[in-house]
Amino acid sequence: MAEVLNHPQTAITAETAKQETPATTDGFHLVIDALKLNDLNTIFGLVGIPITDLARLAQAEGMRFIGFRHEQHAGNAAAIAGYMTQKPGICMTVSAPGFLNGLTALANATTNCFPMILISGSSEREIVDLQQGDYEEMDQLNAAKPYAKAAYRVLHAEDIGIGIARAIRAAVSGRPGGVYLDLPAKLLSQTIDAVKGKQSLVRVVDAAPRQLPAPDSVKRALDVLKGAKRPLILLGKGAAYAQADAQIRELVEKSGIPYLPMSMAKGLLPDTHEQSASAARSFVLQEADVVLLIGARLNWLLSHGKGKTWGGAPKQFIQVDISPTEIDSNVAIAAPVIGDIGSCVSALLGGIDASFPKPPAEWTGAISERKNKNLEKMAATLAKNPSPMNFHSALRAIRDVLKTRPDINVVNEGANTLDYARSIIDMYEPRKRFDSGTWGIMGIGMGFAIGAAVTSGKPVVAIEGDSAFGFSGMELETICRYDLPVCTIVFNNNGVYRGTDVNPTGGKDVAPTVFVKGARYDKMIEAFGGVGRHATTPEELTKALQEAIASGKPTLINAVIDEAAGTESGRLTNLNPQSTAMKK
Ligand code: ADP
Repeated sequence: MAEVLNHPQTAITAETAKQETPATTDGFHLVIDALKLNDLNTIFGLVGIPITDLARLAQAEGMRFIGFRHEQHAGNAAAIAGYMTQKPGICMTVSAPGFLNGLTALANATTNCFPMILISGSSEREIVDLQQGDYEEMDQLNAAKPYAKAAYRVLHAEDIGIGIARAIRAAVSGRPGGVYLDLPAKLLSQTIDAVKGKQSLVRVVDAAPRQLPAPDSVKRALDVLKGAKRPLILLGKGAAYAQADAQIRELVEKSGIPYLPMSMAKGLLPDTHEQSASAARSFVLQEADVVLLIGARLNWLLSHGKGKTWGGAPKQFIQVDISPTEIDSNVAIAAPVIGDIGSCVSALLGGIDASFPKPPAEWTGAISERKNKNLEKMAATLAKNPSPMNFHSALRAIRDVLKTRPDINVVNEGANTLDYARSIIDMYEPRKRFDSGTWGIMGIGMGFAIGAAVTSGKPVVAIEGDSAFGFSGMELETICRYDLPVCTIVFNNNGVYRGTDVNPTGGKDVAPTVFVKGARYDKMIEAFGGVGRHATTPEELTKALQEAIASGKPTLINAVIDEAAGTESGRLTNLNPQSTAMKK
């Protein structure tokens, strides 16, 4: 480590600053210098062999190092930072087990099209390849490949600049995704000539170049849209990621076409927008004849574009996406428009002038009617005040507080907690809602909350099922350590889905879905100096949330929900095969 301490940029003391430029630099410095050169100034990670000094040095060199308690959450924080900024989020882990913990987040990032780079230290190639049993030995590069958009290993210090440049470009160009970068321990302490080292660094130029759609594809799309009697625009999180907010809004408003946001596209236009068809979701999916998909895939979240959800009748799809192989993935696409969303939407807008046919009043009228009916029904459900609270009355309280703070980031996971919150909590600004995403996974909660708080500097409210919270609960310590303005609300109904199951044998073990009854999650955060609150009514919940937001202090609200509320698997009951014995 002598080289590290002698490096000119370490500048820890006035004395070291005065020293003459050393003739050599090393792998540690080159990694940090390469990241900084590309404006990547935050690392989410967890230290240990061989990256502890890399983390120390990053901090000494002015980078932010946010240390976690488990690598999966560091990875999730990096992934959401990437989604919010279009710059790859950086996650740093130790070898083998640390790497594998981070790999879950990398795979989730790739699945969701979030740009991130997982940088892991690894043990010596000679020993790994001969399988001679090194400390934390593992062939990490090959383990990462199937779950990453790209995976690279750097063996020579002079290649670090190129390795990081390739990783950045792979993460953000085209369809964004997760990239793995393998850094063997020996690489970090390799020394090379300082001037040569500096020259080897690469500042990536135009990392995610615009991709203009072919004019004939735009014309084809406009022709299909013109022929529609019941058009619909479907906005996915790719549209939110693209940061083409103004063009997308203009397309929706100029065309007059009703739109539906997928969950993380909520807020791209305010959910209260009069053209939002969210409150008539089933109706519009069934009845639309032409659907314009913008940054949304026809995967399970959209019933693969077929079947009952889509009314059984054939539809014409126009799909705007950066990835040509996404087209026809589930059903035939009549008009693919391939390019980046900003360029594609601008090109489509070029063809929407005063002569462009507005959607028939019969269609928009039918949607309004359906919306009003459903909104009235929902208002009646939300107005009820059962004791104990149920999902609806608790979410009403949260909704009303969040309405006053549209700038707040919302993280959301769980089964019922996710399903209900998605439809009850309105979003008003783009890229403020972060949830279980494409995989529908549990465990993103505290990682996303920390990533969002660190990246935006704004408060975060994490609405968590008690089961979902358990996956990342230890990161409450991280939230308190960095004094982040994160308020976690645990919807506590004593179990997974519900807390009412019983062991049919009458044995001592509780049922598989049941947790400790009456658990006080609020006490957990108090152990780390945060604020714990216990809420049993909507009024208590409102007050606790308002105070948490006003204070900006790490807070956890234990929101007690009726343990009989909630359905098995939330809205995914169809995906959950149940045995005949259990159906009773
Ligand atoms: P949702 O889950 O909200 O429906 P998906 O993650 O399924 O959204 O879809 C996002 C889509 O957006 C992906 O197919 C991805 O290729 C695409 N995408 C991401 N970024 C861009 C971009 N800048 N331009 C065009 N398409 C993009």
